[in-house]
Amino acid sequence: MKANYGYKDGSGEFFITIDTDKCNSCGDCAKVCPPKVIVMITNDYDEVVPAVAEEHRKKIKYDCAPCKPVSGPRNLPCVAACKPVAIVHSW
Ligand code: SF4
Ligand code: SF4
Repeated sequence: MKANYGYKDGSGEFFITIDTDKCNSCGDCAKVCPPKVIVMITNDYDEVVPAVAEEHRKKIKYDCAPCKPVSGPRNLPCVAACKPVAIVHSW
């Protein structure tokens, strides 16, 4: 299942997509995320999966901004940490 977190505003689209079918629950994406935008949760199926924390969902543009000037979407810390390529940022 693909979980989409984010929004569109006047300056563009800001989404984080997490494919829980590809995810192996290693937790590495959450470990490397400085502001804890990504956290590990237990979902309704008792699976431990990453999610975008509620308090960051409407602020991805700003909260992920410190990661973005130095790298393209594939080099973001959370994306680079994910071996199964389960996380995609769109902006
Ligand atoms: S881009 Fe940076 S701040 Fe945003 S989720 Fe990934 S590691 Fe966290
Ligand atoms: S790094 Fe990838 S595989 Fe590991 S918990 Fe995060 S999304 Fe899942």
